[in-house]
Amino acid sequence: MKKTLALLATVVIVLAGVMVVRAARMPSMQGPAPDAVAPIAVDTTGAAEHLGSAVRFRTVSYDNGVNTDTAAFRGLQAFFDSTYPLVRQHLQKEFVNDLSLLYTWEGTDPSLPPIVLMGHQDVVPVIPGTEGDWTHAPFGGEVADGSIWGRGSMDDKVSVISALEAVEALLADGYQPGRTVYLAFGHDEEIGGLQGAREIARTLQERGVGPIDLVLDEGGAVAKGLLPGVEGAVALVGIAEKGYVNLELLVEGPGGHSSTPPNQTNIGILAEAIDELEEHPFPAHFEGPGRALFDYVAPEMSFVPRLALANLWLTKPLVEHMMLGDPESAAMLRTTTAPTIIEGGVKANVLPITARAIVNFRILPGETPRSVLDRVRSVIDDDRVKVSISGGDSVAPSPVSDPGSPAFKMLAGTIRQVMPEEDVKVAPYLVMGGTDSKYYAGRSNAVFRFLAAPIGPDGLKLVHGTDEHMSVEGLATSIAFYQQLIRNADGG
Ligand SMILES: [Zn+2]
Repeated sequence: MKKTLALLATVVIVLAGVMVVRAARMPSMQGPAPDAVAPIAVDTTGAAEHLGSAVRFRTVSYDNGVNTDTAAFRGLQAFFDSTYPLVRQHLQKEFVNDLSLLYTWEGTDPSLPPIVLMGHQDVVPVIPGTEGDWTHAPFGGEVADGSIWGRGSMDDKVSVISALEAVEALLADGYQPGRTVYLAFGHDEEIGGLQGAREIARTLQERGVGPIDLVLDEGGAVAKGLLPGVEGAVALVGIAEKGYVNLELLVEGPGGHSSTPPNQTNIGILAEAIDELEEHPFPAHFEGPGRALFDYVAPEMSFVPRLALANLWLTKPLVEHMMLGDPESAAMLRTTTAPTIIEGGVKANVLPITARAIVNFRILPGETPRSVLDRVRSVIDDDRVKVSISGGDSVAPSPVSDPGSPAFKMLAGTIRQVMPEEDVKVAPYLVMGGTDSKYYAGRSNAVFRFLAAPIGPDGLKLVHGTDEHMSVEGLATSIAFYQQLIRNADGG
């Protein structure tokens, strides 16, 4: 007995020692510090006014693409022409599908693969009745309290304005890119990008453009205070995005009078099917792109969380359990299941002949809309419930871009160069929503999603929410980032 205890104690001590050593030795993934660059002068006041002006054009995308105010888009585009005269003079501007914009800044060396800088002109609507809740009018574009306020200030006119400001400044400097730079600004990202970004990508493909060296779109930001255990700023660069599929669950059967119901009604059958789905969530995949975030962030964490993450060989079940307990982190590990619509019945004393639900799934890379459909059918396992893809509405998850690639390293170096005082750490992550960059799958191995502006713990609520605003400082950093990125893409 004594011997067993002594052995056990030795094992525990050795294990603890191994864990501590592993945590202490965890190598940083940040790589060597990039060459310092001289601070980039940005006309911050002018740029803030420009973003404010852009917000004032109500380029709203409504569901189903109806009621598009084309005059607002044309107004925004005329504003670009008048505000960025050098862009107008030196870049070739094309309209794709009438309202999307494709600018070509021809490089001096046509043999070099090009880069594509993306953004979208459209915004989501302001929910009717909430206009009065805004501190500043939602389409006022006011510059106040160190921020530009209004719908689109963050999502995503800041990207469009930053890219245009950067190119205008580089042109004023006499800069000529070595490789061709495309600016691709879709007009319907908020409703899927089918008419805009998809057509721009197709246009480039038809012209034989590619492979593309770097595609950069919205989707990540500089997180401050978002990740537990990390004190400083973390630049989250999206390396992949989830797909989605809406599945319809339909139960049809005899109706009748509610006074003589069968043991299980159509509504009961449907409810049971939904319950089965929630009881059997999709399996967690710890080794996917969600994991990449930890590999990069863990070495920068305080000791206790680092102890856990450096020893996943032992702690994985615990870490996974904790992550699955929180909806935000759970979504990084698995395909999510969200019943969003349920209907059935018209009258209190009539049994409905149909009961129907829509369940929205956000699909992890590695799975497909089809594999989700198959799994849902087998989980429900009830012939009375017809499961189908609702309205053909599905998008496959994107491929995963390599955080070890030269393009990622160049991007990471640029981020650190333009934010030297922040000691920012760069980390890859999985984007939960969808962006227009999905249309470049197969056209480039380096599709990344990032905006070089800080986002606080409340930042995500502002996107599509009330009081959306962008800090003037963040806008300035974003402009400097695009300038440096274009230079670095040419080798610095
Ligand atoms: Zn957006």
